[in-house]
Amino acid sequence: DVLGADTTMADLPLRDDLRGRSPYGAPQLDVSVRLNTNENPYPPPPELVADVTAAVREAAADLHRYPDRDARQLRADLAAYLSTATGVGLAMDNVWAANGSNEVLQQILQAFGGPGRSALGFEPSYSMHPILSAGTRTDWLPAPRRADFSLDGAEAARLVAEKQPDVVFVTSPNNPTGASISPEDLVAVLDAAPGVVVVDEAYAEFSAQPSAVELIERYPAKVIVSRTMSKAFAFAGGRLGYLAAAPAMIEALLLVRLPYHLSAVTQAAARAALRHADATLGSVRALIDERERVVVSLRELGFTPAPSDANFVLFGRFTDAHRAWERYLDSDVLIRDVGIPGHLRVTIGTPAENDAFLAASKAVIEEIE
Ligand code: PMP
Repeated sequence: DVLGADTTMADLPLRDDLRGRSPYGAPQLDVSVRLNTNENPYPPPPELVADVTAAVREAAADLHRYPDRDARQLRADLAAYLSTATGVGLAMDNVWAANGSNEVLQQILQAFGGPGRSALGFEPSYSMHPILSAGTRTDWLPAPRRADFSLDGAEAARLVAEKQPDVVFVTSPNNPTGASISPEDLVAVLDAAPGVVVVDEAYAEFSAQPSAVELIERYPAKVIVSRTMSKAFAFAGGRLGYLAAAPAMIEALLLVRLPYHLSAVTQAAARAALRHADATLGSVRALIDERERVVVSLRELGFTPAPSDANFVLFGRFTDAHRAWERYLDSDVLIRDVGIPGHLRVTIGTPAENDAFLAASKAVIEEIE
């Protein structure tokens, strides 16, 4: 018997606005092919594992002390990486880091959202944006995309101008649909926005589009670019997200962050992983090639995959997407039902995993027809 198990959430003095809500979470099931959470399918190389181990061992000798509250060395390393990756010169003071980009996004909402304020996003998009808004009591304003999930830049700018949100989320490439916003459309949204525009670039390494860090100089009081080591960097378990912005934006986030939020172990491990960026990011090219192969194969099978700039593909059409998701699971292939009618999302895996997914897809479409 579990102590206190007779008490349910309904018995708790929970905030009224949180009652009846569901927590974020994809099912984590024990299957042989896991293509549901947009991770990098390639495990870290042995040299990286050895370096992370050594760095954590060294950090362990100092665990009686709090870590560097401002994670300066890690931020300098991230700034160097991002400068090289984008060609835009960024300093340590332009970069902030936290436990996954989810924490970065939460801090942004704590500082720029909150009661009496609003955040707008173009749906379908990353479901944590409205969940983090709810947690910080920021009103969520859903805005539409076109039927093909692309963003209508003029309409987006018009809505932003009309609704005057304090925070706008632009996910590029967009999760779960895959495509990026064009630079012109992003500028149109920035020009219309009265507040902060968060460009969530969690999947940027998989995209050929320029990063929005190019716009920090032009819109220093507006643009925040959020990034993560969870996807291309193959570091999802390490929990390291970061952002690039004008230094004043980061000063604002210091007002809401928890002291010592990034453990010494996390900082050391992330720095070690960054030293192997060339090796981990080497998988990006292979994943893009596999993405193109999966898209072509899905189309040949009779599916309609949405164009993707990321390491996943949204595809349809199913009369009953959830039933189809279960059918994949019967084949030991776990993909994601993101709640878009008629569609499912698959993360690009290793060639063998993608073959297993495509074989299951063939069986699914034969069953449907
Ligand atoms: N933004 C987007 C668009 C994502 O898809 C994800 C991961 N699913 C995140 C942010 C958060 O990732 P993390 O907290 O692991 O950095």
